[in-house]
Amino acid sequence: MAYLALYRKYRPKNFGEVFGQQHIVETLKNAVKHNKLAHAYLFCGPRGTGKTSIAKILAKMVNCESENEKPCCACASCIDIQESAHPDVVEMDAASNNGVDEARELVEKVKYAPMSGKYKVYIIDEVHMMTTGAFNALLKTIEEPPSFCIFVLATTEPHKIPSTIISRCQRFDFKKLSKKVIQNSLAQVCEKEKINCSKEAISLIADLADGGMRDALSILDQCIAYAQDDINIQDVSAVYGVATTADKIELYQLIYEKEVKQLIEKLSEIETNGIDIRRLTTDLIDIAKETVVYIYSKNLDTLSVLNEENVQKMASMFDSNTLLTYVDYLIDTLSKYRDATNTLTYLEVCLLKMVEFNEEPIVVEKEVAEKEEKKPVIVENKSFSDEEYYQMLLKSTKKIKEVDAKIINGIFVDSFFGLEKQLINLIKEAEIMASSKTNIILTVDNRTDANFINNKENNIIAENMMEKYLPNRKEIVCVTKEEKEFLITYFKSERSKTQKPKKTTPKKQEETITTEDRLASLFGKDGFDVVGE
Ligand SMILES: [Zn+2]
Repeated sequence: MAYLALYRKYRPKNFGEVFGQQHIVETLKNAVKHNKLAHAYLFCGPRGTGKTSIAKILAKMVNCESENEKPCCACASCIDIQESAHPDVVEMDAASNNGVDEARELVEKVKYAPMSGKYKVYIIDEVHMMTTGAFNALLKTIEEPPSFCIFVLATTEPHKIPSTIISRCQRFDFKKLSKKVIQNSLAQVCEKEKINCSKEAISLIADLADGGMRDALSILDQCIAYAQDDINIQDVSAVYGVATTADKIELYQLIYEKEVKQLIEKLSEIETNGIDIRRLTTDLIDIAKETVVYIYSKNLDTLSVLNEENVQKMASMFDSNTLLTYVDYLIDTLSKYRDATNTLTYLEVCLLKMVEFNEEPIVVEKEVAEKEEKKPVIVENKSFSDEEYYQMLLKSTKKIKEVDAKIINGIFVDSFFGLEKQLINLIKEAEIMASSKTNIILTVDNRTDANFINNKENNIIAENMMEKYLPNRKEIVCVTKEEKEFLITYFKSERSKTQKPKKTTPKKQEETITTEDRLASLFGKDGFDVVGE
């Protein structure tokens, strides 16, 4: 038996098998049940969303010979319609039958009663392709067709249809299928076909299908031809010539890390896989744009390209200003592609400009820091000078730190959601370096986490949340372990400078608080302990 394309094999045969479009299915079922069928329907919506499939199911339903559930898909009428061989069900493609003559011929035939069924059903696909003359010829018939006649006009471009036609039809707007519906349907098909397709691969196919089930199944078909019964995300991107979101985020990360050699290699690798550079460029624009929207709205519902994890990674690397500059660069590059023979070179240059623009935060090296004590600790986003940190540490006490640590430990994470939950989790995992009445300095292992807490928008949310638990509002700032060590060294050296004159007078020494005492009161005597450990 010849191989049947998946989209044909899984084309819905009855309303129960239709993917999504629940509102339309229910309305049509009720209309048939209560005998309230319209004479003309207009099915509008993107390609592959089930317009002609539902039209055929409707044709089966009104002509089915079964006494029970309709359509039965087993009687002669149902089978004929399924195979497009029923004399009373006419499927027309207006793209190739768009003239006045065809329309007149149709109008002429409409008059005659059905040959074998109860209803004659005319399904006219891509109806917007008809000429004005053809529409005019049809108008009268659509307005007052014989009682045994039903028209179903399907179109992807309803705005091209004359209002005189639209007003005579009952209109249904088919929606793009949600990614979730497509993913679930693909998973079912894979199970029936005994194909092992990874979750990531299904997710990428659903993205590529852009709301159309027919496209989703065609892509799956191509992947099966390429990778047989075991499909992973690399197979999908190889077949379809797309870079995965992970690939694109990696490009951004290499820009952030200024890893120029790896960046160019990665781009070349993506290009070798046959990926369209124009599409890659617009995808990079979408990612930057989506991240900026997220930075301002903090609303995960605004995301379509990125998921929560991706967008937070992006937001931890770049601020909105940098991202908007990147968008400018990329749009500029996109406009140059029109006359370009080697688009890859243009994109390479663009990415290099992005590397150049991205001002990397200075990571404080301990040795360097000791030599140049005045060099500020630069924390991206919210930042303080060494002197400001010094003042914060001076005001801090071990007692306050213990109280704050207890409070933070007692916060119940599960009463938070989304971004708030992530922030609370990070704060709980962090070590409190020092606490005063007005400040908390946290320490975390890596810069990404520190940036996440210091990110200006996130920081306000964190301070607002913590205000509800702490005795009063406190400024929260987060440093890395390296920065913490540097700050302690800096604190010691500054502290000893102010103490030196006093140390020369032996009598006063007893009253002097030594650096060690001060540090002990801040961090505990046995080094820099973490309260609550
Ligand atoms: Zn039937």
